[in-house]
Amino acid sequence: MYDLAIVGGGPAGLAAGIYAARANLKTIIIERGLHGGQMQNTLDIENYPGFENVGGPELSEQMYNQALKVGVEWKFGEVQAAQLEGQPKTLQLRDGVIEANSVILATGAKPRRLGVPGETELAGRGVSYCATCDGAFFEDLDVIVIGGGDSAVKEALFLTRYAKTVTIVHRRDTLRAEAILQDRAYGNPKIRFVWNSQVERIEGDSKVSGVLVRSIKDNSARVLPASGVFIYVGVKPCSDFLMGSGILDEQGYIITGADMATSIPGVYAAGDVRTTPLRQIVSAAGDGAVAAMYAYQYLETL
Ligand code: FAD
Ligand code: NAP
Repeated sequence: MYDLAIVGGGPAGLAAGIYAARANLKTIIIERGLHGGQMQNTLDIENYPGFENVGGPELSEQMYNQALKVGVEWKFGEVQAAQLEGQPKTLQLRDGVIEANSVILATGAKPRRLGVPGETELAGRGVSYCATCDGAFFEDLDVIVIGGGDSAVKEALFLTRYAKTVTIVHRRDTLRAEAILQDRAYGNPKIRFVWNSQVERIEGDSKVSGVLVRSIKDNSARVLPASGVFIYVGVKPCSDFLMGSGILDEQGYIITGADMATSIPGVYAAGDVRTTPLRQIVSAAGDGAVAAMYAYQYLETL
């Protein structure tokens, strides 16, 4: 029986754990993958205050070690169902149940699928959602990046370390990515742009050979040859196990106020999985700290 159970060990969950354990709460983090969450897939982080440039795995390691040092218990496992009303709250894992008087949901987000033919069939055979993981396979080859947000542009820049050319295919004629990333991309001789175009199909038999794109201006179609396709068309909240809980919006994000509280007493959410105007490491960590403080105050009332 815990004071606080945190689901997810990304920056939101780790920050919540550090604040809760330092407040003497008996705290457990349940994580189904690697500590650090999405940070593990980011080679260079340049916007976390105090670090001009830090590797995602390195920052993950530091946050994780700090959490363990202050007394957070770590449990490897996936929460498959949750009973959050009343006391205690119960989290169902494959190998048992965890009970706690309060819960912070910090399950983050994962890449959205594009939903075109060839995407599933060629996943792992040229189609990827992680440049940091797979970029090195495309040494001196042509690759395509789909999307126009921070992820697409940042990862396109990363891919120029290996690829011969990187073509960003975007459905509009302006990028959504932050200005500093845009400037770097426009100034990189390896990066090309195909504007106002939607990918209709990823081509290839046993591995990717290119993508079929259609112009949304004149409806013309053409095949862009490539050996790799990196898809960055946004993220999807990891909240499937909360369906029916009444705390999700229509897109699956957990609805909270500025105090990170959901509509269920004693249940909080932090980071990318909640309704928030900014999905970054710094805001996820900030959310985690706020959620832990309000969880502490809630526990005081029991
Ligand atoms: P996550 O990091 O997603 O962590 C959630 C954790 O919960 C995961 O480890 C997951 O395994 C776990 N989990 C999910 N469901 C369950 C379950 N049911 N049971 C148990 N565990 C579960 N932000 C920046 O500030 N700077 C950057 O440079 C930057 N670069 C990025 C590059 C890319 C390619 C991407 C995709 C994102 C980048 N971001 C960057 C965004 C940043 O990584 C996220 O905003 C941040 O990681 C969100 O933290 P989080 O803790 O809310 O969620
Ligand atoms: P995002 O900001 O939602 O951008 C998704 C991009 O994909 C948009 O350009 C969108 O086009 C495009 N898109 C969406 N659906 C599409 C479809 N069906 N077909 C073609 N294109 C489609 O997602 P993200 O870039 O993954 O970023 C997610 C979060 O992580 C953001 O909050 C971001 O700030 C954060 N992040 C930060 C950094 C950093 O370095 N600071 C790096 C990575 C991620 P439109 O522009 O037309 O909508």
